[in-house]
Amino acid sequence: MVRWGMIGAGTIGREWMADAIAAQPDGELRGVASSDPERARAFASEKGIAIAYDSVGALLADPEIDAVYISTTNEWHMPQTLAAAAAGKHVLCEKPLALTLEDAQEMVAACAAAGVVMGTNHHLRNSATHRAMRELVATGAVGDVQAARVFHAVHLPPHLQGWRINRPEAGGGVVFDITVHDADCVRFILDDEITEVTAMTAAQGMGQGVEDAVMGVMRTGQGRLVQFHDSFTSRHSFTGFEVHGTEGSIYGRNVMTQQPVGSVVLRREGQEEEIVVTHENLYERSVRRFNAAIAGEGEPAASARDGLSSLAVALAALASARSGGVARVPAV
Ligand code: NDP
Repeated sequence: MVRWGMIGAGTIGREWMADAIAAQPDGELRGVASSDPERARAFASEKGIAIAYDSVGALLADPEIDAVYISTTNEWHMPQTLAAAAAGKHVLCEKPLALTLEDAQEMVAACAAAGVVMGTNHHLRNSATHRAMRELVATGAVGDVQAARVFHAVHLPPHLQGWRINRPEAGGGVVFDITVHDADCVRFILDDEITEVTAMTAAQGMGQGVEDAVMGVMRTGQGRLVQFHDSFTSRHSFTGFEVHGTEGSIYGRNVMTQQPVGSVVLRREGQEEEIVVTHENLYERSVRRFNAAIAGEGEPAASARDGLSSLAVALAALASARSGGVARVPAV
C-alpha cells in the first residue's frame, strides 16, 4: 500500500486528484496539509480524508506517509519538493515543476539523491486518445511526420481566475499553465524533442500583468514544425491535436482536456477512419503508474525529466516572446 499525503488543498486536488489517489487498490489517501490549517480541515472533511495536518512540516514528519502529491501554486513546488525529498517521500509534483530550469533541476537531483521516485502530473499522456495518436505515429500510420498542430485555447472558468491571471510571481500566465502541457504532448506523441521555439504572447482581456494567450511554432530535433495556440480567453473553440505526415494525417478532436473524452480520426488517401479508444480517467491512470513506479514497475507516466523538458520549452516560449526572436531549448 502506498500511503499518500496531499500538499495543497485546491481545485485540482478537489476535482480530480484526491479521488484518483483514493481509487487505487494499492494506495490510500492518508492526509492533507495546507498553508492554512483550516483549509486542510475543510478539505479533509469534504473528501473523507483521515488526517488534516496543521502544517506541511507535520505531514512530512509523519513516518506513515510514503508519497506526496504537490498541487500548490507554482512557486511552492520547488521548496516543497526539496522538503519532501529530504523527508524521504516520493513526489508526484504538478506542472510546471518550477519557475526556473535551475530550480527544477535541483528538485530532480534532490529526489534522485534521496532515492525517491519523482513524477510530473502531465495528465494528457494518460489519455486514451493521446496514447492512440502516439501508437499511430510509432507504427508509421502517417508515414514520416512533417508537422503537428496543437489547439489548446480554452476559457478559464471563473473559479480559476485567481493567481493564474494576476500573480506572475506565482507562475501565472497561459504559458506556464498550458504551453507546458502542449510541449509534453508533442514530445509524447511524436517521440521527438523540441529544440527551438518562437512565440508571441498577448493579453486579451483576462491577464493582469501576465499573458493570457500565446501562439507560436516549435521545431523538433527531427525537423518537424509544430504550431500551437493556447489561451484563457477562447469561449467557443474546440481543442485538438493534429499530426500531418507523408502518408496521412491524424485529427485528435476535443483531446486537450481533463475529461476522458475526445476522438481520433486517421485520414489517408481521402478515406477517414475513426480509431476506437477505450476512455479512462486520466488522473487515476497517472496515480496508478506512480504507485507502480514506487513498487519498481516502470516509470511514472510523466517522469521528472519529462517535467524538466516541458518547463524548458515554456521558458523558451516566454524568452522568445520577450526578445522577438527564436529561442533555443536547452537539452535537459
Ligand atoms: P488553486 O488556486 O485551486 O489552488 C492552488 C493552491 O492555492 C492550493 O493548493 C492551496 O494551497 C491554495 N489555495 C486554495 N484555495 C485558496 C484560497 N481560497 N485562498 C488562498 N489560497 C488558496 O489552483 P489549482 O488547484 O487549479 O492548481 C494548483 C496546481 O496544479 C498548479 O501548479 C497548476 O499548474 C496545477 N494544475 C494541474 C492540472 C493538471 O491537469 N495537471 C490542472 C490544474 C492545475 P494551500 O492549501 O497550501 O494554501
